[in-house]
Amino acid sequence: MKIVSIMAHQDDEMRCLGTMLKCRQRGDELFFLTLTDGSSGVLQEPPLPRKAAARIRTGELKNMARSAGGECFCLGERDAFLFDTPSVRMKLIEAIRKTEADVIFTHYHEDYNEDHMATHRLVRQAAMLASLPLLPTASPALKSHPAIFCVEPHGPIPFPATYFVDITAFELKKIQLLRLHQSQEAAMQKAFKTGFDQLCNRPDAYWGEKSGCAFAEAFVPMAARGAIKPFPVLP
Ligand SMILES: [Zn+2]
Repeated sequence: MKIVSIMAHQDDEMRCLGTMLKCRQRGDELFFLTLTDGSSGVLQEPPLPRKAAARIRTGELKNMARSAGGECFCLGERDAFLFDTPSVRMKLIEAIRKTEADVIFTHYHEDYNEDHMATHRLVRQAAMLASLPLLPTASPALKSHPAIFCVEPHGPIPFPATYFVDITAFELKKIQLLRLHQSQEAAMQKAFKTGFDQLCNRPDAYWGEKSGCAFAEAFVPMAARGAIKPFPVLP
């Protein structure tokens, strides 16, 4: 199957990367798609031009994706200013068709970050349209609507997870890969005195406790027409 993470920013794949590595092990293909260029997420002393900051973030994701055995694409929207517009919708419809997505991971509808919530809404609409023979783009329409799972948001937002994936065997690899987002590891160490290890270990151990293993990732299926499947798709 083709497994696609569609997130606002480079490193937002942290809540589904363990599951994607497990998918890779069973023979699936991985794609990491970001809508924004990540240019507002680099500690800037002195300030970096947007293009230079974007080059750092997209380069880090490229490195991570290659090391995870996958591919990545960036739609290049301005970080912190992502909006649902006709042009973004069309770009996302084409990107979803190009990956031939069977399974999509994306943000939950409620989140601390507006780019994340905009991504959720865009994926809901674009995945449906990508599956219809309307609105032609360079790639043909998908043969069927992809399954869509939402990842856990950061912060104090209730998350009623119903799907759990045991990622115990992939927790270490997941953190090693996420550290390839070097600018983000540095920014978090500076701001919060913590990095990807704690950012992943805490929730993954929490969901592991809930589902009977050491480390797990948790998901809510997107309640969109065609996005819930009557057969298992997660590893
Ligand atoms: Zn983000």
